[in-house]
Amino acid sequence: MSLILKPNRLIDVLTDMKNLLNLVFIFTLISCSNAQTSKQIDSDKTLKFEITKSNDEWKKELSEDAYNVLREKGTERAYTGKFYKHDENGVYTCGACGEPLFSSKTKFESGSGWPSFYDVVENGNVLVSKDSSHGMQRDEVVCGKCGGHLGHVFEDGPRPTGLRYCINSISLDFEKEK
Ligand code: FE
Repeated sequence: MSLILKPNRLIDVLTDMKNLLNLVFIFTLISCSNAQTSKQIDSDKTLKFEITKSNDEWKKELSEDAYNVLREKGTERAYTGKFYKHDENGVYTCGACGEPLFSSKTKFESGSGWPSFYDVVENGNVLVSKDSSHGMQRDEVVCGKCGGHLGHVFEDGPRPTGLRYCINSISLDFEKEK
């Protein structure tokens, strides 16, 4: 077999190489975008928290409904939460420990009936763990400081993160921007 390629064959080979390089480029872009998403989800199966209290201590500090959501992973009814239709500028904090969690700048109307955010106020303030309750595989969102249940995060949010943090109002407090 001759190693010298005819001009037409050479053009075919060069075109194939160009297509291959384009594929590598596209694959690299997809990998980078996935890496960014993973970075924003701080998943850790052995979560340890700065604030740890007994159930009795939490019960004394929280209302019955807040305890049910924050400590027993309950869910408030859609369209009923105090922050669902809330559009003031400021920071949403943890309803149990006061940790800053979400900025009003990243709040958006998702149509889900719960306050929704496309990003956290600071990486590490919100942690994500796998939740297989109710026959579903979901990413549970908890406060990074006290472990209080906040809601879930889904990968169908708007740009730039593509994430939708779906959060119970009762898990949050709000500090208005001064
Ligand atoms: Fe907290």
